[in-house]
Amino acid sequence: MNRTEITTRLAARLDAGDDGVLAVMLVRLQRLQEFRLVHGYEASDAIGAAAGARLRTVLRPVDELVQVAENEFVALLPRLRDGEHAMLAAARVARAFEDTLSVGAHSVMAPVAVGVSLYPAHGLEPDTLLRRAELALRDAKRTTDRCALFVPGTERVAVPYERLHEALRNNELEAHFEPILDLQRNAIAGYESLARWTAPGLGPVRPDVFIRLAEDTGLIAELTRWSLNASLRHVAHARAAGTPLRISINISPRVFGQRDIVAQVTSALGVWEVPAQDVTLEVTESALMEDPVASLKLLHRLREAGLGIAIDDFGAGYSSLAYLKQFPATEFKIDRGFVTDMRSDARSGRVVRSIIDLGHHLELGVVAEGVEDGETLDLLRALGCDRAQGYFIGHAQPAAAVVGRLRTGA
Ligand code: C2E
Ligand code: CA
Ligand code: CA
Repeated sequence: MNRTEITTRLAARLDAGDDGVLAVMLVRLQRLQEFRLVHGYEASDAIGAAAGARLRTVLRPVDELVQVAENEFVALLPRLRDGEHAMLAAARVARAFEDTLSVGAHSVMAPVAVGVSLYPAHGLEPDTLLRRAELALRDAKRTTDRCALFVPGTERVAVPYERLHEALRNNELEAHFEPILDLQRNAIAGYESLARWTAPGLGPVRPDVFIRLAEDTGLIAELTRWSLNASLRHVAHARAAGTPLRISINISPRVFGQRDIVAQVTSALGVWEVPAQDVTLEVTESALMEDPVASLKLLHRLREAGLGIAIDDFGAGYSSLAYLKQFPATEFKIDRGFVTDMRSDARSGRVVRSIIDLGHHLELGVVAEGVEDGETLDLLRALGCDRAQGYFIGHAQPAAAVVGRLRTGA
C-alpha cells in the first residue's frame, strides 16, 4: 500500500509497451478523515477496504488497482480508445460512490473525486502521469460529476516563491471588487474582494495559481493579512465619503490553524473602523470538511465577533447535513458550476433549487455566483434566491475605481 509500488507497476507496464492508450486514474475518498474522527481507525480502514472492493466491481478485469493510501487508489486502465473512453470509466467510478458504503454497523457516504491522465498524451514517465492525474483530481473536486481529465497547459505557471514574497512586500497585489446584486431590491448589496496580481515580466498570474502557491509555501499568512487590510482600506475610504458598503473576503483554510487569526481579523476591523456586521468571510465548503471540528470552533469565534460567514462553492463538497446544521454560517454561496449549467441541465437546476430551499430552512441567505446571462438571473429570482453575482451583473474591477465611482455617485 504505497506510492513506490504504483510507480514500479506503472513503469513495468509502460516498458512492456503493449497497453495502447493507458489511463492513470487517481481515486480519492473525500470523507474518510471525518469518519475516522467519529468512529476510529479500525472502522475507517474497513471503509477503505470496502471502497477498494466497490472499485473492483466497476473496473474491467484487465484494469489494475492499487491502494496507495488509506483514502486513495490508483487504477491503471490499458487499451482505451481515447480520453472520452477514459472519462466514461471515471464517471462510472464516481457514480458507484453515490451510494453509501457499509461496514458492520457503520454506513457512510464516501463520495470520491477522480482525476485522470493519459499515456502517452499527457506524459511518458510514471511520475509525470501520476502528478498530472493529481492535478486533474484537484479540478474534479470542483465539478458536479466529481471527475476530471488532465488538461495540458493548466499546470501551475512556474512562479517562484521569491517573486510572490516580494510582491506581497512591495504591495504588487491589487484588490478587485465584484458586485453582488440583491435580487429582491434589484440593487447592489455589496462586493466580493478578489485578489489580482500582475507580476512585472510575467504578466497577470491567475489567483488560483498564486493562492495555491501561497498555501503551499506558508506565504498564505501574509497574503491573508494583505487581503484583509487591502479590502478594508477601500471600505474605509468609501465609509469616509458617506457611502458604507458590505464586503465579502475569501479566507483560505490554511490560516485556520493560526492561533491569532481571529485577533488578526478583529484588529484589522479596528484599524479601519469597519463594523464587523459589514464584513462576511468566505470559506469553501470542502475546506470546512477537511477539518470540521477545528473549523467549527473557529467559525463560532468569528460569528461571536459579529462577522458574517459564507460557505463558498456550496454543493461541490458533499457536506454532511449533520455538520452543516452546526456551522454558524450566515449564507450559502451556490457553486458556480451549478449556476452556469442550470438553464441547460435540469439536474443542476434542481440542485440550485434544493440549495436555496435548504438555506432558507436553515434561515441563511443564499447567493448564486457565476450568473452569465439574464435568463439565469430571472430563474434565480423566481426561485427566491437572495443575491447573485457574475459576469452578467458585473466583472470584478479595481477596488479604488469602484469606490471612486461610489464617492462621486457615478
Ligand atoms: P471564488 O471565491 O469562488 O471566486 C469567484 C471566482 O469566479 C472569481 O475568480 C471570479 O472572477 C469568477 N467569476 C465571477 N463571476 C463569474 C462568471 O459569471 N463566470 C465565470 N466563469 N467566473 C466568474 P478568480 O478571481 O479567478 O478567483 C479564483 C479563486 O481564488 C476564488 O474563487 C477564491 O477562492 C480565490 N481567491 C481570490 N482572491 C482571494 C483572496 O484575496 N484570498 C484568498 N484566500 N483567496 C482568494
Ligand atoms: Ca468566494
Ligand atoms: Ca465561489
